[in-house]
This record gives sequence, C-alpha cells and structure tokens, in this order.
Amino acid sequence: DPRIHGIKARIRVVPDFPKPGIMFQDITTLLLDPSAFKDTIDLFVERYKGRNISVVAGVEARGFIFGPPIALAIGAKFVPLRKPGKLPGQVISEKYVLEYGSDCLQMHVGAVEPDDRALVVDDLVATGGTLCAAINLLERVGAQVVECTCVIELPDLKGRERLNGKPLYVLVESH
Ligand code: 5GP
Repeated sequence: DPRIHGIKARIRVVPDFPKPGIMFQDITTLLLDPSAFKDTIDLFVERYKGRNISVVAGVEARGFIFGPPIALAIGAKFVPLRKPGKLPGQVISEKYVLEYGSDCLQMHVGAVEPDDRALVVDDLVATGGTLCAAINLLERVGAQVVECTCVIELPDLKGRERLNGKPLYVLVESH
C-alpha cells in the first residue's frame, strides 16, 4: 500500500533512548502529520471494519493514541489496559517479565464480557511480553482475541512467537 511509505518516513528513530544501545521508535512525529496519522488509522479501520469486533483494548500509553479512533470508526467499545494503580474500579492483573524486572497490566472487571471479540492495539511490538499480557487479561474473562495490531514490529525480537498463536498485524517493520 503506497500509504505505508509515508507512515514509515514519519517515525523518528532516536538512538540511545531511554538507555544506551536502544534505537527508540518515536511515533510522536507521526502524530504531527495529520495526513500520515489519518492513513495509519484508515489502514487499521479498513482491515477491521465488518469483522464483528466488539472491543478494542489499548495498551498504556501509546495504545491509547491509536486504539480509540479505530474503536469509534468500527463501532466497538474501547477498554484501556493500564499500569498498576491507575484504574479506580475492581481490576484483574497480569504480570509480565521485562529485560530487567517485571511489569503489570490491569483491566477493569466487567469492561469486557465473555461474548466479546477483541482487537488488542499498541504502538510497537518488541519481545511480545506486553501483548501477551494483554491477550491473557482478555482471555481470562472469556473474550476471544481476534488479532493484535501495532504500527511497528521489531521482527528480530520474535515477539510474534510469544502471542499464543494469535495473529499479529503491523504496518511497518524496523530492523
Ligand atoms: P515488548 O513487551 O513487546 O517487549 O515491548 C513493547 C512495549 O514497549 C510497547 O508497549 C511499546 O510501547 C514499548 N516500546 C518498546 N520499545 C519501544 C520503542 O522503540 N518505541 C516505542 N514507541 N515503544 C516502545
């Protein structure tokens, strides 16, 4: 798709952020270009419209940028998956391991129901640990995870293989 090139061109790569050796993929520069940002959302909406998705689950924090416009356009509810201590209601939690230490995602009890069909949205998949935790939260309440989607994949980290067989769709790969 010719739109992909323009999207890729708007993602800024910042060396040594947040620590030495990391090539950080910065999507804030994509958001500065309304045409490229719209193309990004349109590509997701074209893929997911008419697939009976009832919930878009967005991963804190950048899944909160891409998830809601997709949810509105396809007529699905939006559910934020948040870092610990942010959600005021009753939550379920899923811990996951990082390169150094561990982290956790939480979801409000009752936000997602057993007959929901879910799309998981984040900006980037690296090791896949974050998406795996998101999938587990949704499946624990009985929802079906139709697909995970991100703007960017770092395929060398093989995160795709950690998603318990769930399909992953991305717009851009970065090596
Ligand atoms: P994973 O759990 O797949 O190893 O890491 C993915 C998570 O880390 C995502 O929530 C993503 O936002 C964040 N992340 C890791 N590296 C980068 C990066 O280079 N750029 C951006 N924008 N996010 C990153």
